[in-house]
Amino acid sequence: MGLRFLITGGAGFIGSAVIRHLLANTVQVVANVDKLTYAGNLDSLAEFAGSDRYNFHQLDICDQAAMSKLMSAFQPDVVMHLAAESHVDRSIDGPSDFIQTNIVGTYSLLEAARAYWQTLDRSRQTSFRFHHVSTDEVYGDLHGVEALFTEETPYAPSSPYSATKASSDHLVRAWQRTYGLPVVITNCSNNYGPYHFPEKLIPHMILNAIQGKPLPVYGDGGQIRDWLYVEDHARALVEVATRGRVGETYNIGGHNEKRNLEVVETLCTLLDELAADERPATLESYKELITFVKDRPGHDQRYAIDASKIQRELGWVPRETFDSGIRKTVEWYLINRAWWQRVLSGDYQLARLGAAEYA
Ligand code: NAD
Repeated sequence: MGLRFLITGGAGFIGSAVIRHLLANTVQVVANVDKLTYAGNLDSLAEFAGSDRYNFHQLDICDQAAMSKLMSAFQPDVVMHLAAESHVDRSIDGPSDFIQTNIVGTYSLLEAARAYWQTLDRSRQTSFRFHHVSTDEVYGDLHGVEALFTEETPYAPSSPYSATKASSDHLVRAWQRTYGLPVVITNCSNNYGPYHFPEKLIPHMILNAIQGKPLPVYGDGGQIRDWLYVEDHARALVEVATRGRVGETYNIGGHNEKRNLEVVETLCTLLDELAADERPATLESYKELITFVKDRPGHDQRYAIDASKIQRELGWVPRETFDSGIRKTVEWYLINRAWWQRVLSGDYQLARLGAAEYA
């Protein structure tokens, strides 16, 4: 029998990738807890509806009593916490949901996990893990072209999103130090890949391009991000949850630093090759759709991860290069139109009403 994973935020981009990885490649059992906000999409897991190794619970992680009840019933070996408000622009327009889910929700989940953990026998207490999934954005802006974020880099978050994620990281560390809860934390760079909600840079650009809409690039597009293919992240998370050392933080990154403009131009080049027949007749290249728009306030210039610790200790390395991952991603969006058309039309949210059918 496999380990029992209780995964929060499993209907989101990365959570669903973790669940697909666990169900397709391991014998582990999964309970997926998700509130199904606008970012939650059960279509991403439709292939597993009815699996006896998977069940879904539409719950808010802020509901501590409900989370406690579920933990007692499901008896997880691992709580992997990905539920969050995750979009920086939305955090600037309205930080309140970010404070609630990312800080208060993490606190509630920690308390539910602590109460559950205390009911376990000594050997299960030792092997239990609370895995908190976080971002490299907690480290703030990286100055200079050489420096990398390590696990020792001081926190200096810039946006409401990254400030709430930094707060949640501190809470998780405190619950280990104060109460002895066995935690591990991961901080990862920007993810991309299949099933990514179209508000995020890469899917937004692909879908705008094939609809002949402008491709809005913030500022001069010079901001640097370190891109990681989501399936590489999912594998890394499972390695850390099952083999990482208690109390440790692991940075996860793809060694793929790219300027935003370079990413958008790469997408256009791929689309010129793979979707030439959909390009408006007036254009010679999708690149002509690029438009520069006013920069995001407080926009960090550069993020880049030193992932040598997870490589050294757990042997994890990414399998995809940026070139291979970005090609797979463009191909996925060109093939899987029903998935994103249901997001753009809003129909994907119908699953909220019939969530039980996906259990
Ligand atoms: P996402 O926005 O795609 O998914 C978040 C999921 O959490 C959604 O399914 C949503 O319905 C759910 N959720 C939100 N509030 C909830 C609540 N109160 N209770 C229960 N469920 C709730 O996010 P993602 O990109 O998959 O990110 C997952 C985690 O990884 C986040 O914690 C994020 O901070 C972190 N992270 C993301 C990236 C990235 O590039 N996307 C990089 C590093 C770290």
